[in-house]
Amino acid sequence: VCVAASCQSSGAGPVQDALVTALGTELPDCKVKGVGCMGLCSAGPLVAVAAPDECLEEATLYRDVTPADADDIIGTLDGAPLERLHCPTNQPFFARQRKIVLEHAGLIDPDSFKGYVAVGGYAGLIRALSEMTPSDVLREVTTSGLRGRGGGGYPTGLKWSTVAKMPAEQKYVICNADEGDPGAFMDRAILESDPHRVIEGMAIAAYAIGANKAFVYVRAEYPLAVERLHTAIRKAKRSGFLGNKIADTQFNLEVEVRLGAGAFVCGEETALMASIEGLRGQPRPRPPYPAESGLWGRPTLINNVETFANIAPIIREGGDWFAAIGTERSKGTKVFALAGTITNTGLIEVPMGTSLRDIIEVIGGGIPGGKAFKAVQTGGPSGGCIPSQHLDIGVDYDSLKTLGTMMGSGGMIVMDETSSMVDVARYFMEFCMTESCGKCIPCRTGTQQMHSILDRLAKSQGTRADLLLLEELCEVVQATSLCGLGQTAPNPVLSTMRYFRDEYEAKLSDA
Ligand code: SF4
Repeated sequence: VCVAASCQSSGAGPVQDALVTALGTELPDCKVKGVGCMGLCSAGPLVAVAAPDECLEEATLYRDVTPADADDIIGTLDGAPLERLHCPTNQPFFARQRKIVLEHAGLIDPDSFKGYVAVGGYAGLIRALSEMTPSDVLREVTTSGLRGRGGGGYPTGLKWSTVAKMPAEQKYVICNADEGDPGAFMDRAILESDPHRVIEGMAIAAYAIGANKAFVYVRAEYPLAVERLHTAIRKAKRSGFLGNKIADTQFNLEVEVRLGAGAFVCGEETALMASIEGLRGQPRPRPPYPAESGLWGRPTLINNVETFANIAPIIREGGDWFAAIGTERSKGTKVFALAGTITNTGLIEVPMGTSLRDIIEVIGGGIPGGKAFKAVQTGGPSGGCIPSQHLDIGVDYDSLKTLGTMMGSGGMIVMDETSSMVDVARYFMEFCMTESCGKCIPCRTGTQQMHSILDRLAKSQGTRADLLLLEELCEVVQATSLCGLGQTAPNPVLSTMRYFRDEYEAKLSDA
């Protein structure tokens, strides 16, 4: 039974209880197990019937399950699938994905240390510690071509090597789990489904750079992810992987969870570090970069959840294996959260370079209700909207930039023909205005001014002078804000103006 937040919210808990009751003690070889996100959130609660060695794609999957269906599901365990609930796993949603980060999601019990080890968990860390020097690990990560999945796409191997080179007694590793983009839930699902995987990646990073202390900074609004992280850290400690010297190595890592109080700006790395230090979560100018002077002035490595979740397989299978997946400059796979007006909302993982059309029309199942596609918003409030004429572009860090948007952390919000793009721009500007920390004037005042113009335009009360001022403000705020929040806040406005100018023109009161 999928027990990630989405299925839980649609009733997976009572379904699990009903299945346990229905199963009784009749079939001692059969167990009801809670597992992480199976991906097809729109069809939850999801239940998979599988042999112990079967993956999700080989299982018999049931959708929209209610407690009342439990007896029927148990009654058909030995026979043909229960047709009225059957959700074929050979459909494109499952068949067109390639899972590396999510390989265990929907398969293992996130709270089970043994379950993680049984599928090869901690083999990457053991290999690193027993067969590799820290330099070997750095070389492997560099060879893989992995780029940071938090949005910037900075080469991970280069970042790790910079911190490793810094001469310091004390260094830190931070996992940024302060996911805050509207519509994005990749990090939450990874932590809820496979928390040990993230911890293993952090431990390998700590070994490579010479750190013995790590923090996971996670939003307090993710209580299930926080709970599973705590459980995983406790069990990894009890099993000797954290908090002790491992076997005959000198490696010893402590991992601590710190909760963010919901400020979007705390996803910015300097604000995040200030928050961990107990200060107000506000960005500071860079340089110095965290790699040189980070947490409490010490060299600090910060990566996000998905980046760390890629590390164990890279060490296990080798950097060359990872580098063979994806495109020339964007290696590996990417996890996306599909949201908005799309048939299959949920979590997917595809090789870098997969076209937007494949993601939206094939894997996502297209637009429901016979409506036409209008745009897809990527990169959250820092990104932009991509119209239908660019649907065939392969998604990677560089291609999205040419369209005036960005990969971001992986949120994709799909919009149909009924969406007003001026409303969309106003929504994202309101988000940035509310989340601006207020430290610098261009962002603090500029987002308010831009929002009030967008509000007038959305109500058909704006003038051509407003539109020109809006464009000018976009330039100024982009160029003069202190941190990424302000610098990218104009992006949704600029991209909607670029592709849907006619909608702005049609709203002018003096048109
Ligand atoms: Fe704060 Fe905005 Fe300035 Fe960033 S750009 S420091 S969020 S006011």
